[in-house]
Amino acid sequence: MTPEHQSLLIEAAQDLGLDLREHAPAFDRLHALLAEASEQMNLTTIRDERDVVLKHFVDSLSCLSGGHLDGELDVLDLGTGAGFPALPLAIVRPDLRILALDATRRKIDFVERTARTLGLTNVRAVAGRAETLGRDPAHRARYDRVVTRAVASLPVLIELALPLLRIGGQLVAQKGSDVSEELNAAGGAAAQLGGRIGDVRAFRLPVTGDGRHLVIVEKTDETSERFPRREGVPARHPLS
Ligand code: SAH
Repeated sequence: MTPEHQSLLIEAAQDLGLDLREHAPAFDRLHALLAEASEQMNLTTIRDERDVVLKHFVDSLSCLSGGHLDGELDVLDLGTGAGFPALPLAIVRPDLRILALDATRRKIDFVERTARTLGLTNVRAVAGRAETLGRDPAHRARYDRVVTRAVASLPVLIELALPLLRIGGQLVAQKGSDVSEELNAAGGAAAQLGGRIGDVRAFRLPVTGDGRHLVIVEKTDETSERFPRREGVPARHPLS
């Protein structure tokens, strides 16, 4: 990254209440690995350096802004893609134990390789579908938090995430500027999965001023064995 973009990252993160100075070299390397891998495979549509800083790094870190990820927590990143938000989170929060999950093997290979290169011992990566992990005793009801960005609508996310959460755990969904329509259907979905909508926090991203929401869904009761339904069904026939 250019020195200008490093400063941009540090200043934008400061607006989120994060001190990134000691982590700037890690983000610099993450950027380089992402750029190199993007030459060879279709990993992410965001390529421009400034965009990577703002739309991948800063946007990913904004899920920390509500304090919902404070503490030593087991966190699953549902649909991590090229590692967002998992990798930025792992860099700035060594106390989080993160599992990065994605259905696409080549993306998971990248996340795994990158975590190793950056020496991030607090993040593991697994290729698979949330529907499958949600029925696997090794993963069902094992996480304190599920974070997710740009994966699906709230009713779908709720069906995929709540089975993976412990009672008392939370889904932390990163959403754009307009959530009202999704939220309408989300209340019903949450009730069926043993949860309820908690905080809905509206905020603006540093620098760009783009509108964002963090939607928190709290798991209050055990999830019925009926959920999650089989692969692909949650997205094809969302609960309401
Ligand atoms: N969170 C990343 C990637 C978003 S793209 C980011 O913000 O940049 C959405 C990703 O979710 C894709 O990589 C896709 O493979 C994954 N995905 C969608 N549904 C999934 C499911 N049911 N289980 C696991 N991964 C899923």
